[in-house]
Amino acid sequence: MSHRNRRVFVLQLAGAALAVGSVRTATAQSGAAPMVDPKDPLAASLGYVEDASKVDAGKFPQHKPDQSCAHCQLYTGKAGDKSGPCGIFAGKQVSASGWCVSFVKKA
Ligand code: SF4
Repeated sequence: MSHRNRRVFVLQLAGAALAVGSVRTATAQSGAAPMVDPKDPLAASLGYVEDASKVDAGKFPQHKPDQSCAHCQLYTGKAGDKSGPCGIFAGKQVSASGWCVSFVKKA
């Protein structure tokens, strides 16, 4: 490898390292876990909806208007956040204004 070729190779390596670094940084910055898809089989089986005002009252008569993920014991998101983790959906986030049949009122 000539001196010039070696220099180009080193620069290419540095560029590749920077590219990998920026992808990692972007991932870390976005950081948030993905949202639960209401069509996901587990979510669908629990009647999860992202907007509690759209709960099917015929199917889930137990749902009350003041019930949403933000007021559920299984929700561990911060107050005021639009979404956060739920104990049922590991590695994902639910909408703070969502609801599912496993709702348990926060004490
Ligand atoms: Fe929302 Fe609670 Fe159901 Fe989780 S268990 S999706 S926090 S209502």
